[in-house]
Amino acid sequence: MRTVYVNGEYLPETEATVSIFDRGFLMADGVYEVTSVLGGKLIDFGGHLARLERSLSELDMKKPAGFDDLLDIHRELIRANDITDGLVYLQVTRGSDGDRDFVFPDPETTEPTLVLFTQSKPGLADSPAARTGIKVIGIEDIRWGRRDIKTVQLLYPSMGKMMARKAGADDAWMIEDGHVTEGTSNNAYIVKGNTIVTRHLSTDILHGITRAAVLRFAREAQMRVEERAFTLDEAKAADEAFVTSASAFVMPVVEIDGTALGDGTPGPVARRLRDIYLEESLKSAV
Ligand code: PMP
Repeated sequence: MRTVYVNGEYLPETEATVSIFDRGFLMADGVYEVTSVLGGKLIDFGGHLARLERSLSELDMKKPAGFDDLLDIHRELIRANDITDGLVYLQVTRGSDGDRDFVFPDPETTEPTLVLFTQSKPGLADSPAARTGIKVIGIEDIRWGRRDIKTVQLLYPSMGKMMARKAGADDAWMIEDGHVTEGTSNNAYIVKGNTIVTRHLSTDILHGITRAAVLRFAREAQMRVEERAFTLDEAKAADEAFVTSASAFVMPVVEIDGTALGDGTPGPVARRLRDIYLEESLKSAV
């Protein structure tokens, strides 16, 4: 059984509880982060905590703990659960003042709820999907307008994954005003010739921590990067495509709405970026 962390305590998962009045439960009033663990160490941890701070501040939520304390909790859970490869989830909600009200509770008297738990994923960096690539479908993006904040409102992304599964695909790319925003839980890229194209940062997409690192490594390796919106038709005509996220790293996309890209196998740019990302981010793992 896993050990999890809830509001200052390490507990067996079956004994960990939060209030039924928690605003995360009643209003999706919460944010989260996911950090991957490879060889027992946290990947891109500084980036994830920086984004957590930004998410909290955009929502006027109190910080539940400082950087060092959060790092200690991550490490203790990795140790307690014997995680070599896997994920650490950190969830923060605005807590509960013991009732239901749209008005935010007073942060002086209501503490945020802080929960962390792990998932063990042996061989996370060596997933079979990375060798074959994944298939995506296009779906309409009907999420709210602040997708740059990493909130726990994951109903539509969850529905998107189910739509993909029903269509015999692995994931969905969301489309707004004719242009791809991002994947249900990842940032989306296409490659045409020697240019990598991915949507520019705005409130329309989550500012992926893996995205930032991958674009930095791509530029350092003299690859051409264009940060702009692209259509699904442009994507279908691309030489290759891929997605990035903390849990999938760089994942090749080999089919979009039934159209195979290139020869239908992972392309050289995606494969190279995956190798570079894994190699470089391991060097700075904590
Ligand atoms: N976009 C969305 C909608 C996501 O849920 C995620 C995964 N957290 C990402 C992009 C990728 O972000 P990151 O690289 O920080 O995991």
